Amino acid sequence: MARSYKTEAVVLRSFRLGEADRVLHLYTRALGRVGAVAKGVRKTKSRFGARLEPFSHVELVLHQGSGELHTVTGASLVEPHRPTREDRYRLSVGLVGAEAMLRLFVEQEENERAFEAVTRFLAAADAIPAGLRGRPALDPLALGFQLKLLWLSGYLPHLDACVECGEAGELVGYLPSAGGAVCAACAPSETVALSPEGFRGVRALLLSPLADAHALVRRRHDQVPWEEAEFGEILARIMLPHGEGRSVLRGPALSVGERATNSLALLFYELATNAAKYGSLSVTQGAIEIEWDADEKDVRLQWREAGGPITKPPERQGYGAKLVNGAVQQLGGKVEYDWRPEGLIARLRLSIASLTQ
Ligand SMILES: [Zn+2]
Repeated sequence: MARSYKTEAVVLRSFRLGEADRVLHLYTRALGRVGAVAKGVRKTKSRFGARLEPFSHVELVLHQGSGELHTVTGASLVEPHRPTREDRYRLSVGLVGAEAMLRLFVEQEENERAFEAVTRFLAAADAIPAGLRGRPALDPLALGFQLKLLWLSGYLPHLDACVECGEAGELVGYLPSAGGAVCAACAPSETVALSPEGFRGVRALLLSPLADAHALVRRRHDQVPWEEAEFGEILARIMLPHGEGRSVLRGPALSVGERATNSLALLFYELATNAAKYGSLSVTQGAIEIEWDADEKDVRLQWREAGGPITKPPERQGYGAKLVNGAVQQLGGKVEYDWRPEGLIARLRLSIASLTQ
Protein backbone atom coordinates (compact mmCIF):
# COMPACT_ATOMS: atom_id res chain seq x y z
CA MET A 1 0.00 0.00 0.00
CA ALA A 2 1.70 3.19 -1.19
CA ARG A 3 1.38 6.33 0.87
CA SER A 4 3.14 9.60 1.58
CA TYR A 5 3.75 10.98 5.06
CA LYS A 6 5.50 13.89 6.69
CA THR A 7 7.79 13.49 9.68
CA GLU A 8 10.72 15.05 11.45
CA ALA A 9 13.89 12.99 11.17
CA VAL A 10 17.57 12.97 12.05
CA VAL A 11 20.02 11.69 9.44
CA LEU A 12 22.18 9.13 11.27
CA ARG A 13 24.18 7.85 8.33
CA SER A 14 24.26 8.38 4.59
CA PHE A 15 26.00 6.58 1.77
CA ARG A 16 26.15 6.70 -2.02
CA LEU A 17 23.93 4.72 -4.26
CA GLY A 18 24.92 4.76 -7.91
CA GLU A 19 25.88 8.01 -9.57
CA ALA A 20 23.64 10.56 -7.94
CA ASP A 21 21.55 8.98 -5.21
CA ARG A 22 22.03 8.49 -1.48
CA VAL A 23 20.71 5.95 0.96
CA LEU A 24 19.87 7.50 4.31
CA HIS A 25 19.58 5.84 7.68
CA LEU A 26 17.02 7.99 9.44
CA TYR A 27 15.62 8.15 12.91
CA THR A 28 12.13 9.58 12.49
CA ARG A 29 9.72 10.97 15.04
CA ALA A 30 6.79 9.15 13.42
CA LEU A 31 8.18 5.67 12.83
CA GLY A 32 11.57 5.37 14.53
CA ARG A 33 14.20 3.75 12.28
CA VAL A 34 13.54 4.22 8.58
CA GLY A 35 15.78 3.60 5.57
CA ALA A 36 15.19 5.96 2.67
CA VAL A 37 16.61 6.81 -0.70
CA ALA A 38 17.13 10.42 -1.82
CA LYS A 39 17.32 10.59 -5.59
CA GLY A 40 19.58 13.04 -7.39
CA VAL A 41 20.96 14.33 -4.13
CA ARG A 42 24.54 14.43 -5.42
CA LYS A 43 23.74 16.43 -8.53
CA THR A 44 24.91 20.04 -8.27
CA LYS A 45 21.38 21.29 -8.78
CA SER A 46 19.75 18.88 -6.34
CA ARG A 47 16.48 20.16 -4.94
CA PHE A 48 17.57 18.83 -1.53
CA GLY A 49 20.80 20.89 -1.51
CA ALA A 50 22.89 20.18 1.59
CA ARG A 51 19.85 19.43 3.71
CA LEU A 52 20.44 15.70 4.02
CA GLU A 53 23.93 15.74 5.52
CA PRO A 54 24.60 13.43 8.50
CA PHE A 55 23.28 14.86 11.84
CA SER A 56 20.83 17.17 10.05
CA HIS A 57 17.50 17.46 11.81
CA VAL A 58 14.99 17.83 8.99
CA GLU A 59 11.34 17.65 8.17
CA LEU A 60 10.79 15.16 5.40
CA VAL A 61 8.03 14.06 3.11
CA LEU A 62 8.55 10.36 2.56
CA HIS A 63 6.86 8.06 0.14
CA GLN A 64 6.37 4.49 1.26
CA GLY A 65 6.06 2.15 -1.70
CA SER A 66 6.26 -1.61 -1.87
CA GLY A 67 10.03 -1.78 -1.24
CA GLU A 68 11.86 -1.63 2.06
CA LEU A 69 13.38 1.80 1.40
CA HIS A 70 11.11 4.82 1.52
CA THR A 71 11.71 7.67 -0.96
CA VAL A 72 12.42 11.24 0.10
CA THR A 73 10.14 13.56 -1.90
CA GLY A 74 10.58 16.73 0.16
CA ALA A 75 13.02 18.05 2.78
CA SER A 76 13.32 21.20 4.87
CA LEU A 77 15.86 21.94 7.57
CA VAL A 78 14.82 22.14 11.20
CA GLU A 79 18.37 22.36 12.60
CA PRO A 80 21.50 21.61 10.54
CA HIS A 81 23.77 20.86 13.55
CA ARG A 82 26.59 22.30 11.49
CA PRO A 83 28.93 22.85 14.50
CA THR A 84 28.92 19.08 15.12
CA ARG A 85 30.00 18.40 11.54
CA GLU A 86 32.63 21.13 11.38
CA ASP A 87 34.84 20.31 14.36
CA ARG A 88 36.80 17.09 14.39
CA TYR A 89 36.24 16.20 18.04
CA ARG A 90 32.52 17.08 17.95
CA LEU A 91 32.15 15.06 14.76
CA SER A 92 33.67 11.99 16.44
CA VAL A 93 31.33 12.37 19.42
CA GLY A 94 28.40 12.74 17.01
CA LEU A 95 29.42 9.55 15.22
CA VAL A 96 29.61 7.62 18.51
CA GLY A 97 26.04 8.75 19.25
CA ALA A 98 24.74 7.99 15.76
CA GLU A 99 26.35 4.55 15.91
CA ALA A 100 24.66 3.84 19.26
CA MET A 101 21.27 4.83 17.80
CA LEU A 102 21.82 2.53 14.82
CA ARG A 103 22.81 -0.36 17.07
CA LEU A 104 20.07 -0.04 19.68
CA PHE A 105 17.09 1.04 17.58
CA VAL A 106 16.84 -1.35 14.68
CA GLU A 107 13.09 -1.65 14.32
CA GLN A 108 10.69 0.63 12.55
CA GLU A 109 8.87 1.52 15.73
CA GLU A 110 7.86 4.91 17.10
CA ASN A 111 9.83 6.02 20.15
CA GLU A 112 9.25 9.70 20.71
CA ARG A 113 11.62 9.84 23.67
CA ALA A 114 14.47 8.33 21.69
CA PHE A 115 13.84 10.93 19.00
CA GLU A 116 13.90 13.72 21.57
CA ALA A 117 17.07 12.27 23.08
CA VAL A 118 18.97 12.24 19.79
CA THR A 119 18.02 15.85 19.00
CA ARG A 120 19.10 16.94 22.49
CA PHE A 121 22.31 14.97 22.11
CA LEU A 122 23.13 16.80 18.86
CA ALA A 123 22.33 20.19 20.40
CA ALA A 124 24.72 19.36 23.25
CA ALA A 125 27.36 18.15 20.76
CA ASP A 126 27.08 21.51 18.92
CA ALA A 127 27.93 23.19 22.22
CA ILE A 128 31.12 21.21 23.00
CA PRO A 129 34.03 23.69 23.04
CA ALA A 130 35.83 23.75 19.67
CA GLY A 131 39.15 22.00 19.18
CA LEU A 132 39.02 19.54 22.09
CA ARG A 133 41.35 16.56 21.94
CA GLY A 134 41.06 13.19 23.60
CA ARG A 135 39.19 9.96 23.09
CA PRO A 136 35.66 10.72 21.88
CA ALA A 137 34.46 7.29 23.05
CA LEU A 138 35.18 8.43 26.61
CA ASP A 139 33.57 11.82 26.12
CA PRO A 140 31.04 12.43 28.93
CA LEU A 141 28.34 13.44 26.46
CA ALA A 142 28.90 10.36 24.28
CA LEU A 143 28.89 8.15 27.38
CA GLY A 144 25.85 9.85 28.92
CA PHE A 145 23.89 9.56 25.68
CA GLN A 146 24.65 5.86 25.31
CA LEU A 147 23.53 5.21 28.88
CA LYS A 148 20.29 7.09 28.28
CA LEU A 149 19.67 5.15 25.08
CA LEU A 150 20.18 1.87 26.93
CA TRP A 151 17.64 3.03 29.42
CA LEU A 152 15.15 4.18 26.73
CA SER A 153 15.47 0.90 24.87
CA GLY A 154 14.64 -0.98 28.04
CA TYR A 155 18.13 -2.10 29.08
CA LEU A 156 18.60 -0.16 32.26
CA PRO A 157 22.18 -0.86 33.25
CA HIS A 158 22.41 -2.69 36.57
CA LEU A 159 24.96 -0.86 38.63
CA ASP A 160 23.99 -1.82 42.15
CA ALA A 161 25.02 -5.47 42.38
CA CYS A 162 26.94 -7.99 40.29
CA VAL A 163 24.78 -8.98 37.27
CA GLU A 164 26.27 -12.47 37.31
CA CYS A 165 26.09 -13.58 40.94
CA GLY A 166 23.91 -10.90 42.54
CA GLU A 167 26.45 -10.06 45.25
CA ALA A 168 26.42 -6.44 46.30
CA GLY A 169 30.08 -6.48 47.35
CA GLU A 170 32.86 -4.61 45.61
CA LEU A 171 32.19 -4.12 41.91
CA VAL A 172 35.19 -3.89 39.62
CA GLY A 173 33.80 -3.14 36.19
CA TYR A 174 31.01 -3.03 33.66
CA LEU A 175 30.19 -5.97 31.41
CA PRO A 176 28.46 -4.61 28.28
CA SER A 177 27.22 -8.04 27.12
CA ALA A 178 25.38 -8.57 30.41
CA GLY A 179 24.28 -4.97 30.75
CA GLY A 180 25.63 -4.42 34.20
CA ALA A 181 28.34 -4.26 36.81
CA VAL A 182 30.36 -7.32 37.85
CA CYS A 183 32.40 -8.32 40.89
CA ALA A 184 36.04 -9.46 40.75
CA ALA A 185 35.11 -13.17 40.94
CA CYS A 186 32.76 -12.95 37.94
CA ALA A 187 34.63 -10.47 35.73
CA PRO A 188 35.57 -12.00 32.35
CA SER A 189 38.34 -10.45 30.26
CA GLU A 190 35.99 -8.24 28.22
CA THR A 191 34.94 -6.35 31.37
CA VAL A 192 35.43 -2.61 31.18
CA ALA A 193 37.25 -1.83 34.45
CA LEU A 194 35.62 0.89 36.54
CA SER A 195 36.81 2.39 39.82
CA PRO A 196 34.32 3.37 42.56
CA GLU A 197 34.82 6.91 41.24
CA GLY A 198 34.01 5.62 37.75
CA PHE A 199 30.75 4.05 38.97
CA ARG A 200 29.79 7.32 40.62
CA GLY A 201 30.49 9.11 37.35
CA VAL A 202 28.34 6.69 35.36
CA ARG A 203 25.45 7.05 37.82
CA ALA A 204 25.72 10.84 37.74
CA LEU A 205 25.69 10.83 33.92
CA LEU A 206 22.64 8.62 33.87
CA LEU A 207 20.78 10.99 36.15
CA SER A 208 21.71 14.32 34.61
CA PRO A 209 20.38 16.13 31.55
CA LEU A 210 22.62 15.57 28.50
CA ALA A 211 23.35 19.28 28.24
CA ASP A 212 25.00 19.07 31.68
CA ALA A 213 27.32 16.15 30.89
CA HIS A 214 30.42 18.24 30.22
CA ALA A 215 29.85 20.58 33.14
CA LEU A 216 29.25 17.56 35.36
CA VAL A 217 32.68 16.14 34.70
CA ARG A 218 34.28 19.52 35.31
CA ARG A 219 32.44 19.67 38.65
CA ARG A 220 33.18 16.16 39.71
CA HIS A 221 35.05 17.21 42.83
CA ASP A 222 32.07 19.13 44.14
CA GLN A 223 31.26 18.70 47.80
CA VAL A 224 27.68 17.55 47.24
CA PRO A 225 27.62 14.44 45.09
CA TRP A 226 24.31 12.73 44.28
CA GLU A 227 25.26 9.92 46.59
CA GLU A 228 24.85 11.98 49.71
CA ALA A 229 21.68 13.69 48.62
CA GLU A 230 18.62 13.71 50.81
CA PHE A 231 15.13 12.58 49.67
CA GLY A 232 13.62 16.08 49.23
CA GLU A 233 16.80 17.35 47.58
CA ILE A 234 16.77 14.55 45.00
CA LEU A 235 13.14 15.39 44.16
CA ALA A 236 13.92 19.10 43.98
CA ARG A 237 16.81 18.51 41.56
CA ILE A 238 14.60 16.46 39.28
CA MET A 239 11.70 18.92 39.33
CA LEU A 240 13.87 22.03 38.88
CA PRO A 241 14.28 21.80 35.07
CA HIS A 242 10.47 21.89 34.79
CA GLY A 243 10.34 25.39 36.22
CA GLU A 244 10.91 26.92 39.58
CA GLY A 245 7.80 27.07 41.74
CA ARG A 246 5.80 24.65 39.57
CA SER A 247 6.10 21.86 42.06
CA VAL A 248 5.50 22.07 45.78
CA LEU A 249 7.44 19.58 47.90
CA ARG A 250 6.41 18.87 51.47
CA GLY A 251 7.75 16.20 53.77
CA PRO A 252 10.25 15.31 56.46
CA ALA A 253 13.99 14.99 55.77
CA LEU A 254 15.00 11.40 54.94
CA SER A 255 18.42 10.01 54.16
CA VAL A 256 18.74 8.00 50.94
CA GLY A 257 21.51 5.47 50.42
CA GLU A 258 23.83 5.50 47.45
CA ARG A 259 22.17 2.51 45.79
CA ALA A 260 18.61 3.71 46.24
CA THR A 261 19.39 7.15 44.79
CA ASN A 262 19.56 5.68 41.32
CA SER A 263 16.11 4.07 41.45
CA LEU A 264 14.54 7.02 43.23
CA ALA A 265 15.84 9.51 40.67
CA LEU A 266 14.74 7.35 37.72
CA LEU A 267 11.30 6.96 39.25
CA PHE A 268 10.69 10.69 39.62
CA TYR A 269 12.40 11.52 36.34
CA GLU A 270 9.82 9.28 34.64
CA LEU A 271 6.84 10.74 36.48
CA ALA A 272 8.03 14.28 35.69
CA THR A 273 8.66 13.47 32.02
CA ASN A 274 5.18 12.04 31.76
CA ALA A 275 3.68 15.14 33.39
CA ALA A 276 5.63 17.36 30.99
CA LYS A 277 4.32 15.46 27.99
CA TYR A 278 0.71 14.70 28.90
CA GLY A 279 -0.04 16.05 32.36
CA SER A 280 -0.02 19.23 34.37
CA LEU A 281 3.50 20.30 33.33
CA SER A 282 2.43 20.31 29.66
CA VAL A 283 0.65 23.66 30.15
CA THR A 284 2.01 26.84 31.76
CA GLN A 285 -0.57 27.08 34.54
CA GLY A 286 -0.25 23.46 35.69
CA ALA A 287 1.50 22.40 38.88
CA ILE A 288 2.41 19.35 40.95
CA GLU A 289 2.14 18.84 44.67
CA ILE A 290 4.37 16.17 46.16
CA GLU A 291 3.79 15.29 49.80
CA TRP A 292 5.34 12.50 51.81
CA ASP A 293 5.45 11.16 55.31
CA ALA A 294 7.37 8.35 56.91
CA ASP A 295 7.19 5.94 59.82
CA GLU A 296 9.90 3.47 60.81
CA LYS A 297 8.87 1.05 58.03
CA ASP A 298 7.63 2.98 55.00
CA VAL A 299 7.55 6.27 53.18
CA ARG A 300 4.14 7.16 51.77
CA LEU A 301 4.13 9.73 49.02
CA GLN A 302 1.39 11.40 47.05
CA TRP A 303 2.08 12.95 43.64
CA ARG A 304 -0.84 15.17 42.70
CA GLU A 305 -1.07 17.01 39.38
CA ALA A 306 -3.44 19.95 38.91
CA GLY A 307 -4.23 22.58 36.32
CA GLY A 308 -3.32 20.42 33.33
CA PRO A 309 -5.45 19.05 30.49
CA ILE A 310 -8.12 16.45 31.26
CA THR A 311 -6.26 13.19 31.86
CA LYS A 312 -7.20 9.62 31.18
CA PRO A 313 -5.37 6.34 31.70
CA PRO A 314 -2.93 5.43 28.91
CA GLU A 315 -4.12 2.72 26.52
CA ARG A 316 -0.96 0.70 26.74
CA GLN A 317 1.97 0.46 29.09
CA GLY A 318 4.94 2.33 27.61
CA TYR A 319 8.64 2.23 28.48
CA GLY A 320 8.07 4.95 31.06
CA ALA A 321 5.50 2.98 33.03
CA LYS A 322 7.70 -0.13 32.96
CA LEU A 323 10.64 1.86 34.29
CA VAL A 324 8.52 3.32 37.07
CA ASN A 325 7.37 -0.17 38.06
CA GLY A 326 10.94 -1.49 37.99
CA ALA A 327 12.23 1.37 40.12
CA VAL A 328 9.39 1.05 42.63
CA GLN A 329 10.09 -2.68 42.91
CA GLN A 330 13.76 -2.00 43.60
CA LEU A 331 12.66 0.35 46.35
CA GLY A 332 10.56 -2.41 47.91
CA GLY A 333 7.30 -0.60 47.29
CA LYS A 334 4.09 -0.17 45.37
CA VAL A 335 2.55 2.46 43.11
CA GLU A 336 -1.13 3.13 42.43
CA TYR A 337 -2.45 5.52 39.82
CA ASP A 338 -5.69 7.41 40.15
CA TRP A 339 -6.43 9.01 36.75
CA ARG A 340 -8.80 11.82 37.70
CA PRO A 341 -10.07 14.22 35.03
CA GLU A 342 -8.52 17.15 36.96
CA GLY A 343 -5.11 15.50 37.09
CA LEU A 344 -3.21 12.31 37.89
CA ILE A 345 -2.72 11.25 41.48
CA ALA A 346 0.01 8.69 42.02
CA ARG A 347 0.33 7.12 45.47
CA LEU A 348 3.61 5.48 46.31
CA ARG A 349 4.77 3.39 49.19
CA LEU A 350 8.54 2.82 49.45
CA SER A 351 10.31 0.78 52.09
CA ILE A 352 12.71 2.64 54.38
CA ALA A 353 15.01 -0.39 54.43
CA SER A 354 15.39 -0.23 50.62
CA LEU A 355 15.72 3.55 50.57
CA THR A 356 18.65 3.59 52.95
CA GLN A 357 20.62 0.95 51.02
ZN1 LIG B 1 29.74 -11.67 40.84
